[in-house]
Amino acid sequence: MTAQILDGKKVATDVRAQIAKEVEQTEGITPGLAVVLVGDDQASQVYVRNKEKACNSVGINSFMHLLPASTRQEELLDLIKKLNADSKVHGILVQLPVPPQIDPDIILQAIDPTKDVDGFHPFNTGKLMAGLKTFVPCTPRGIMHLLAAYNISLAGKHAVVVGRSNIVGKPMASLLMARDATVTVCHSKTSDLKEFTRSADILVVAVGRPRLITADMVKPGAVVVDVGINRLPEGLVGDVDFDTVKEVASYITPVPGGVGPLTIAMLLQNTLESALDK
Ligand code: NAD
Repeated sequence: MTAQILDGKKVATDVRAQIAKEVEQTEGITPGLAVVLVGDDQASQVYVRNKEKACNSVGINSFMHLLPASTRQEELLDLIKKLNADSKVHGILVQLPVPPQIDPDIILQAIDPTKDVDGFHPFNTGKLMAGLKTFVPCTPRGIMHLLAAYNISLAGKHAVVVGRSNIVGKPMASLLMARDATVTVCHSKTSDLKEFTRSADILVVAVGRPRLITADMVKPGAVVVDVGINRLPEGLVGDVDFDTVKEVASYITPVPGGVGPLTIAMLLQNTLESALDK
């Protein structure tokens, strides 16, 4: 059996087309996203440029703030204060990681929760846990959208999430639980990872280790979602050994072209929804 590809690029293109249409039809208001990058981390620069391009492609205003690596925490907090008060800005995103003199938790908590389109403010993570309407972090939201686009049912299924970060693993587990999956979360201290992954009907991997998940760790017929982005000399690879796992799984996301495009599409969606809520 060769798995069907979960084509994130195509699904994201459809989402973006729909957003562009809605932005065009929205009278009197242009959604605006402020993107803040501190320092010159190369991967972060690529990410923020892609976010800017994505905004422009659907008619969302992007306000880029590129600050030097020496920026003090107080200066960044001042900028966030201004963005919180700016009525043209409906979403604020501070690209992580930030330089060591800045505490990311203090920064994320300074963002107005009603403009927190990344969904990282504890107020919004709490609402997500409680099953209330809120900004859902973009990567897990994108994965849920992708699974829905392929009519993959979740109720009663065993979903295993590998990785417990605040950005991906934890919100992913909440969303799967809210859709009636039985959820197991594995992490760096899980003693026998394979024992858990082998029993997954839905396997979501967000670790950051190239090809950690091999075919022998996957139940035949499982749905495999690879969040990992690892830069190797041969190019980008995921956390799943795609070539062998695709022979065992029923559905699988490629890297690139799987989860990544949906993450950006959901950032645009969150920004649009924030603007419409105002
Ligand atoms: P993170 O470093 O914050 O968390 C990694 C998690 O993996 C931790 O919870 C850790 O406990 C777990 N872990 C580490 N080694 C493990 C092991 N051997 N076995 C099991 N668990 C292990 O990372 P993150 O921010 O959640 O990102 C994870 C990966 O996803 C990275 O490659 C990142 O680049 C990628 N990512 C991709 C997107 C996207 O849009 N495609 C978005 C966010 C993150």
